[in-house]
Amino acid sequence: MGRKFFVGGNWKCNGTTEEVKKIVTTLNEAKVPGEDVVEVVVSPPFVFLPVVKSLLRPDFHVSAQNCWVRKGGAYTGEVSAEMLVNSGIPWVIIGHSERRQLLNESNEFVGDKVAYALQQGLKVIACIGETLEQREAGTRAVVSEQTKAIAAKISNWDNVVLAYEPVWAIGTGKVATPAQAQEVHADLRKWVHDNVSAEVAASVRIIYGGSVNGGNCKELAAQPDVDGFLVGGASLKPEFVDIINAAT
Ligand code: PGA
Repeated sequence: MGRKFFVGGNWKCNGTTEEVKKIVTTLNEAKVPGEDVVEVVVSPPFVFLPVVKSLLRPDFHVSAQNCWVRKGGAYTGEVSAEMLVNSGIPWVIIGHSERRQLLNESNEFVGDKVAYALQQGLKVIACIGETLEQREAGTRAVVSEQTKAIAAKISNWDNVVLAYEPVWAIGTGKVATPAQAQEVHADLRKWVHDNVSAEVAASVRIIYGGSVNGGNCKELAAQPDVDGFLVGGASLKPEFVDIINAAT
């Protein structure tokens, strides 16, 4: 179907300048397939974006982990989409479950942010996913509500990657089985087919996140509706290179 494999590294709130430079050196020396096969995007904390961007190999790209919902102004502590564009940052992660849970970002707020970031010209990794409690009550309803809140605010999906990250699998070492991931991804693709369009359903990349590592990535990548990964913990380690290589 021609969906290019996508591997994102979400460094979260980790690192020092020295550590970040070390990770970049490892990435720069890595042997990986070309940009025609896999799109690689790493997401350091805001303060390290300039240094990472300046040192990182040109075939890998950088992403912010968040941005403000509208135009900048009197919003202490926020970073606007315009500032990211102005700094040459092409990507932003929006709606990560840690922000949804810890900072109470609602579905609507996330939808507004995705729409605003896209309007400014950013590409967006839009995150969705259910908690363990919600899984027991029905994953489908939760992830389709989250996707619906995004779909309601945007019309062009060309610059959107949808990241399915079950909250119970994030940072827990409890990865979804390949069958569990495939089931939700296929459901999501069907939701997009029925509620957005057949074209978007065929082209949008749905990536998986939650305890992906060098050992489990191959089997997950083999699932027909898993188009890549959003990697947290393992993206800070050399095994991130093995995860990139799961593209082939
Ligand atoms: P994890 O995090 O790989 O450490 O589980 C994934 C994420 O939160 O994006």
